[in-house]
Amino acid sequence: MRRKLVAGNWKMHGNLASNQALLDTIAAGMKRIQGMDCAVCVPFPYLPQAQSRLQRTEVAWGAQNVSPHAQGAFTGEVSASMLVDFGCRFVIVGHSERRTLFGEDDSTVAAKFMAAQGSGILPILCVGETLQERESGITAQVVNRQLDAVLDAAGVAAMAKAVIAYEPVWAIGTGRTATPEQAQEVHALLRARVSDRDPGVARGVRILYGGSVKAGNAAELFAKADIDGGLIGGASLVADDFLAICRAAQG
Ligand code: PEP
Repeated sequence: MRRKLVAGNWKMHGNLASNQALLDTIAAGMKRIQGMDCAVCVPFPYLPQAQSRLQRTEVAWGAQNVSPHAQGAFTGEVSASMLVDFGCRFVIVGHSERRTLFGEDDSTVAAKFMAAQGSGILPILCVGETLQERESGITAQVVNRQLDAVLDAAGVAAMAKAVIAYEPVWAIGTGRTATPEQAQEVHALLRARVSDRDPGVARGVRILYGGSVKAGNAAELFAKADIDGGLIGGASLVADDFLAICRAAQG
């Protein structure tokens, strides 16, 4: 049985004061929530704040990006070993905003995935199709291509130390959620794709759904066989909403 994971993606939101209130409420609320894993992925400058507030709590923390390079003349980049210095357990790679707004292609995403794992951080690998791709009937082709790029580069065994997030681009920040059936269909596809290479790894890998998950729709999404939790954007900035989503993932 896979333990569910709910991870918040704060994106470029927050400040020291608002973060402190959010982290305090989440950490306190998580004391009463059992049988699931919870994490927040915060902007780089707030990693020390997350580390100092969340260590010795039920809430893990992580980052939203990582350099594919270990060190060197890469102005503005942050390496995986730097994330380790601040206790990161997770890092998001391949988010659709990084792919579309910052031009990250499949090979860059694979390199970031491997850089994170090389430092012992669990990458949360995001895959997902645009609305146009869905309407053209190529959803499976797109998500398989995004997944294969990482499987080919890192090897299937790497998925034992990673998380996959299916995030249909048309559902991110739009208020338009995939139905549980639509999400389950793609999650099953992704698990089958991993299973083609290693059935044991496929059974263990957590596949999160992301795209306008809210307190009101989390339970029915998480009830599906291949949905192992959520990657939460907007609702992760409201402590009560995020905690309600965590409660919906309780084992
Ligand atoms: C995200 O950006 O990863 C996300 C799922 O956002 P939202 O929940 O706001 O759709």
